[in-house]
Amino acid sequence: MNTTVRKASMFILVFLCQLLATAAPQSPAGESPAARIAGEVFADGEQMQYLSLLSDEIGSRLTGSKGAERAMQAVEAEMKRIGLANIHREPFAIPVSWERGQAAASLITFGDRPLKIASYTWTPATAGPIVGPVIEIGAGRPEDVERVRGKLKGAIALSTPSGGSLDELMYNVYHVAQLEKDLKEAGALALMIASDKPHAMLFTAPIEFKARLAALPTVSIAHEDVGLLQRMLARKEEVRVQLDVRNTVGGSFESANVTGEIPGREKPEEIVVVGAHLDSNDLGPGALDNAAGSAAVLETARAIKSLGLVPRRTIRFVLFTGEEEGMLGSNAYVRHHRDEMDRTVAALIMDIGAGKPEGWFSMGRPDLDAQIDELMSTYKNLGMSHIEHAAFAGTDNAAFMAEGIPTLVLLQDETSYFPVLHTVADTVDKADPRDFASCVAALAATAYAIADRPDRFGRRLTVAEVRKLAAETKIDAQWRAVGIWP
Ligand SMILES: [Zn+2]
Repeated sequence: MNTTVRKASMFILVFLCQLLATAAPQSPAGESPAARIAGEVFADGEQMQYLSLLSDEIGSRLTGSKGAERAMQAVEAEMKRIGLANIHREPFAIPVSWERGQAAASLITFGDRPLKIASYTWTPATAGPIVGPVIEIGAGRPEDVERVRGKLKGAIALSTPSGGSLDELMYNVYHVAQLEKDLKEAGALALMIASDKPHAMLFTAPIEFKARLAALPTVSIAHEDVGLLQRMLARKEEVRVQLDVRNTVGGSFESANVTGEIPGREKPEEIVVVGAHLDSNDLGPGALDNAAGSAAVLETARAIKSLGLVPRRTIRFVLFTGEEEGMLGSNAYVRHHRDEMDRTVAALIMDIGAGKPEGWFSMGRPDLDAQIDELMSTYKNLGMSHIEHAAFAGTDNAAFMAEGIPTLVLLQDETSYFPVLHTVADTVDKADPRDFASCVAALAATAYAIADRPDRFGRRLTVAEVRKLAAETKIDAQWRAVGIWP
């Protein structure tokens, strides 16, 4: 390199440094907040570290467990480090405490063959080891129970639900509590539910909502073992199973939501809620359900703060607990903040793992379509275009929705999510860092845009409109089951 060239390149280097120095703190002219936020998330986002902290370092976070408490402490510490305002816990009561104990089952008709089972959460222990004949009840619909009612006394019922569609899934979630009461009345001792997961994986969830104890001891049984039982039953043989479940059930306890804020610069009294549930089930570390959503909420806060962006309205970050027991934390939040509901502009919720974002669930609100399209056009390269109008009460948006508040749930590719949901295999490796970054970027850019737009996003529905929406989307029965609807 000769001197002239060196001088010229030095000049260029100095010029570039100056350019970078002036560009870094402020945005280059014309760069939108959405672009700055997405850039921050993709280049410097800490969502994968948050995911690893919650699911690798802490692990399962069943509401009321040590893991859940450690996760709440970790979130508070991170909110402080990020520099959020008004960080605090909002406690709420849970009526029944529950702790998993040993659970074992064996097929005793042919020797003593162990069966792969795991207890559902918030289900009782068996009265010591119990033995009974296995009686199949199909999908467990009322007519299925009627068909075998005479054989249920002293029996262990086996149900094989099909959960192919969202409708079927929601039916399964919302009908098992009543099924168990019917089975108990008919004299059944316990219920085994076929797991729909691959490779002998087991599933867990509560049966009742509002953390009430289920009517019967209830276990998930590997579908390979269900096949074995069914083949033996098909030979018209009596198939007897021994079941020994040792869960511990106790009195009420306190859990809490953890919240922190970026106060608005012009309309701090108006609030955009960005939330996800921090709690998980306890067979695995709940990486996709829902350390991913929690990590996305934290990164939304971190990215906006680190860029020095201050929106017109307040963004309130809420990590809920008690979601798995029937959205208890978000229901408690809405009860505690009822006087703010008119000023709550929207609730953004993430709870479908880390698969790539495809659009938004508007939960039965076509009136929001134009505004959602406008939001998606600000981050068009994330590949989101879909607005799903179907409504369901399966996550923390439900209580907000019943208040008439616009709720957006991130619509994501579910391929990686459902096979491992509530299983031992819901681990960090299921999250693709790039797809996950796209989710976080979409959540963060949307939260900021809704909080910062001059006019309000959507509007709160009247009570009459909410009733109409509930009837049209058939969501009222689900709201009733979780206690957010009369
Ligand atoms: Zn979830």
